[in-house]
Amino acid sequence: MDKLKFAIYWAAACGGCDVAILDINEKILDVAENVDIVLWPLALDFKYKDVAALPEKSVDVCLFNGAVRNSEQEEIAKLLRAKSKVLVAFGACACFGGIPSLGNVSNREKIFRKVYHDTLSTVNTDTVVPRTTHEVPEGELTLPEFYDVVRSLAQVIPVEYFIPGCPPPVDLILTAVTAILKGELPPAGATIASEKVLCDECERERSEEKTVKQFKRPWEMIPDRGKCFLEQGLVCAGPGTRGGCGARCVNVNMPCRGCFGAPPGVQDQGAKLLAAMASLVASDDPQEIARAVEGIDDPLGTFYRFGLANSTLGRVKS
Ligand code: SF4
Ligand code: SF4
Repeated sequence: MDKLKFAIYWAAACGGCDVAILDINEKILDVAENVDIVLWPLALDFKYKDVAALPEKSVDVCLFNGAVRNSEQEEIAKLLRAKSKVLVAFGACACFGGIPSLGNVSNREKIFRKVYHDTLSTVNTDTVVPRTTHEVPEGELTLPEFYDVVRSLAQVIPVEYFIPGCPPPVDLILTAVTAILKGELPPAGATIASEKVLCDECERERSEEKTVKQFKRPWEMIPDRGKCFLEQGLVCAGPGTRGGCGARCVNVNMPCRGCFGAPPGVQDQGAKLLAAMASLVASDDPQEIARAVEGIDDPLGTFYRFGLANSTLGRVKS
């Protein structure tokens, strides 16, 4: 049997998703036996023109990690869409916009000003910022256009599957790769994770009646390892997050931050989390409520940490 052709691409992301693929360790040898890699900028020296020269739909599977922040990423996303039979949004940034989409609270002008002028270590009296073209004696230099808005992959091109996580856990990667190799993929549009909420796979004790007088941040206390974080006043994204990671943060005594995105049937993860937290504050007194929530230092970053691009807010106009 011919080997399957794989492409792996890294757009607006930290690189953790690429490293997670390497984390499958010696199993990568089994993958290598069955797979030819045609693009993987992290590990192999292929050029975009090599991919452009491939026939349409000749790549069996593309694992695309990262959100779309600039014109190069959009161009490669469209190129890989044309060349791939199956395109997988791999990791929280590709699936929901991820941490990069928190940039949607700002815009290009403000971000450039901050990065290239306002930081204490920058001296840039003329406020020179990156431009898409620049003339030099040898000709014209070009840079990709930095967009005002960060988008998730499916907001740019059609996507067959979603593998969430920051980064996706190794066992989920292996499940997906095995299903691909055996030709046993679920129907297009599926998220390869659990169909339940994270709390369903969490073994911490919880009581029926939960109330919070004041939310705290994880560094302000050493949490009890056996009790639900919410009952200890720590924001845990479990009630508004899809399961499938094996509660890996919760198991090392860190509250869930929501990297598997909204649970099935929930459109806006941030709104779901906000509702869950609000239901814990047992008071009608505005001052008591204000006191309870003042421990949530950055509500937008807390509730929309991984999903601002896909949320109903999408971006905050600035
Ligand atoms: S809120 Fe967090 S700690 Fe509590 S049950 Fe859900 S996942 Fe577990
Ligand atoms: S516990 Fe939450 S933040 Fe941690 S990996 Fe699972 S879904 Fe992501």
